[in-house]
Amino acid sequence: MDAKVVGVDRLNFIDGRFTPGSSGRTFENISPVDGAFLGQIYEAGKAEVAAAVEAARSAVAGPWGDMALADRCDLLHKVADRIIERFDEFLDAECADTGKPRSLASHIDIPRGAANFKVFADVVKNVPTEAFHLDTPDGAGAHNYAVRAPKGVVAVICPWNLPLLLMTWKVGPALACGNAVVVKPSEETPSTATLLGDVMNEVGIPKGVYNVVHGFGPDSAGQYLTQHPGVDAITFTGETTTGEAIMREASVGVRDISLELGGKNPALVFADCDLDKAIEGTMRSVFANCGQVCLGTERVYVERPIFDEFVSRLKEEAEKLKLGRPGDEGVNLGPLISAEHQQKVLSYYAKAVEEGATVVTGGSVPDMGADLAGGHWVSPTIWTGLADDAAVVREEIFGPCCHIRPFDTEEEAVMLANDTPYGLAAAIWTENASRMHRLGRKIEAGIQWMNCWFLRDLRTPFGGSKQSGIGREGGVHSLEFYTELRNICVKL
Ligand code: NAD
Repeated sequence: MDAKVVGVDRLNFIDGRFTPGSSGRTFENISPVDGAFLGQIYEAGKAEVAAAVEAARSAVAGPWGDMALADRCDLLHKVADRIIERFDEFLDAECADTGKPRSLASHIDIPRGAANFKVFADVVKNVPTEAFHLDTPDGAGAHNYAVRAPKGVVAVICPWNLPLLLMTWKVGPALACGNAVVVKPSEETPSTATLLGDVMNEVGIPKGVYNVVHGFGPDSAGQYLTQHPGVDAITFTGETTTGEAIMREASVGVRDISLELGGKNPALVFADCDLDKAIEGTMRSVFANCGQVCLGTERVYVERPIFDEFVSRLKEEAEKLKLGRPGDEGVNLGPLISAEHQQKVLSYYAKAVEEGATVVTGGSVPDMGADLAGGHWVSPTIWTGLADDAAVVREEIFGPCCHIRPFDTEEEAVMLANDTPYGLAAAIWTENASRMHRLGRKIEAGIQWMNCWFLRDLRTPFGGSKQSGIGREGGVHSLEFYTELRNICVKL
């Protein structure tokens, strides 16, 4: 393990200071690559969570709330610039916590993590509000106009799969809109959120604007935060069942909530597609980040005339994936995040066989050698032959795996794609432009990629349908959640 990331303890960041807190509880940060000990994490207790919420409230009421919009946005640009200046430290920390390939994190996680501060600072400066003139019986009339006010203290609860990127996707717009935040990063990936505290201090973000509390969900920092009455709104990314628990907490005090939840995303591959593109895109959508992407594909439906060719080509490509340490030459697949998650994914590998799948490739734990034996490795896996009601076809696995099934008509493809309680994303591969637009209106998913995958314009609405979430973030839509529109009616 890289000496730079071993033995680095992570403290809570409250009111501009790093603190172990008084809970007396710590937990270990463990490398998913080889099981090495990375450092101690200091868990926040109720007192630390309360202190963080209090610090955030004071910042909103004081220097942050009073700051001119242009100054606030300039500071957020500086945050982005400083992340890029300290790129290697963020990259090392992210790869150590997640085990993901450096080639991936250096293209996606860190640059997009920084970009989130710039994009939303620019959005906030440029979005107008509405104004109406109202006629009144006395003939004088009234002017109505809307202003946006920050919500106040926003709790940001994040998952481990894209730690910096998904956290700043919320923190960027929250701060741009004038809120202060208390972030609870995943217990699996505490490092980049902590490092960001240092950046906030370096560029001069007032203390209390950005706070980080470490810990777990129930009976720990996560729940203490969502239960705290000083939190005005909660934004959460993670599993659907966790979202349900957080929604119950948010109902106390009628606090606003944004939920980005799980998925079981389909890919539809039509016989008229460009097959090279479809294979390349499906390889990414199934296996990127070891399948731990909420937008990833776990159900692939292929039009029958090209089914056999598609399966054999995807198998061939999957077998070329190189597993290994984040920085090793040519590595494009890392481990799963934790031993617990490895057990979950392997339970689905076993279930697929029990449910009668044909294992096209994978399905086991690869032999990674003694050096990596302590890591959470699973082999890239493809199945065919499962029934539509098989657990492996219906439940989110969040691993490097997919089931491929043939279809015969466009209507059948739509029916299969929508046959899920989730509605996060879909990828569609066809060269027929009319079909793209037709399907675009029929597929029940918050984002649909036509002949691409994970191509994100941060100005566009992002979020899930059905059990994949509530609300939209991105561009102007983030403003809807992170601000309160107030109408001002002036009688003339
Ligand atoms: P998770 O729900 O287990 O945990 C997410 C966060 O919630 C963690 O910080 C955790 O400590 C915290 N938490 C857990 N229980 C809590 C509680 N009762 N109260 C408060 N906080 C609590 O999710 P995960 O395993 O970290 O992430 C994987 C999941 O996230 C997958 O389901 C994936 O689809 C989903 N995800 C969705 C999106 C999206 O944009 N829709 C993006 C990424 C990941």
